[in-house]
Amino acid sequence: AKSQGRGNFQFFSSTMNRATHERLLMESRLSQALEKQEFELYLQPQVAMSTGRIIGAEALLRWHHPELGMISPDRFIPIAEESGLILPLGDWVLRRGAQLLVRWREQGLGHLRLAINLSARQCRGTSLLPLLDKLLADNGIAPSQLELEITESAAMQDPESSSILLHELRVRGIKVAIDDFGTGYSSLSYLKLFKLDRLKIDRSFVKDIETDPNDAVIVSATIALAHSLGLEVTAEGVETEAQRAFLCGKGCETAQGYLFAKPVPLAQFEDMVTGVTV
Ligand code: C2E
Ligand code: CA
Ligand code: CA
Ligand code: CA
Repeated sequence: AKSQGRGNFQFFSSTMNRATHERLLMESRLSQALEKQEFELYLQPQVAMSTGRIIGAEALLRWHHPELGMISPDRFIPIAEESGLILPLGDWVLRRGAQLLVRWREQGLGHLRLAINLSARQCRGTSLLPLLDKLLADNGIAPSQLELEITESAAMQDPESSSILLHELRVRGIKVAIDDFGTGYSSLSYLKLFKLDRLKIDRSFVKDIETDPNDAVIVSATIALAHSLGLEVTAEGVETEAQRAFLCGKGCETAQGYLFAKPVPLAQFEDMVTGVTV
């Protein structure tokens, strides 16, 4: 029994080592990736339900590693978050986002709004507001063109400081959206605490809207709740015409999803907006 226990321990420790090793490897690749300019912002169109027109985009990070290829944000954001690398990375996203807004203004696309995801650590830190102030002032960007998305679970890690941050953002006229609504296992009481502009219904509720009566009821009730609190609603992950029609019928204002477009590189997004066929 003793030797078996020992064998188990060795097995356990060697798998631990492998996982730790891979993690460290990813971390060191990630820390070089900024310098090596391996990141890119893809843009997913956000569409007005009533007109079908593109009113803006959500910026979604892409990491092109020279050997590993494209690495999904679901794989590297958690590592960046834990290691703290999310702070320089998040700053890069905001600076790049500001460049895009300037570029669009110069191209006569100044009506477009850009939504940017914030991580939990960015929300807890102290450098976000000064950076935003600087980016908006230096580039003459109207704050209302920028929308920041924060997940329910990130906001709830420290509700008090999140509430102050969201207040500060809105004082500046920056829009605030709560992301992945309904997935965070938190009570609805934070809707009272946080001042928000928008609620984004998570894809997991939209997915089975046509087949699962529970999901249909949850989505309808969520839209009604948001509206009664004065919030606009964006539905995520809209893939079918039936989903679009359902959401539109419930008064959902905007939508994102493969039905309209996948996240695409900048040039392709601009072609879509200006009506060039690709
Ligand atoms: P998210 O913020 O919920 O973004 C929506 C995700 O759903 C994106 O995945 C998008 O490509 C995907 N999606 C959009 N429409 C559809 C659809 O119709 N069907 C399906 N199946 N999927 C759809 P992506 O780009 O892989 O990003 C994953 C997550 O990574 C994001 O989820 C967000 O939490 C995080 N992320 C991405 N970029 C950033 C960033 O710049 N900063 C931070 N902190 N997180 C980011
Ligand atoms: Ca988002
Ligand atoms: Ca989301
Ligand atoms: Ca998500």
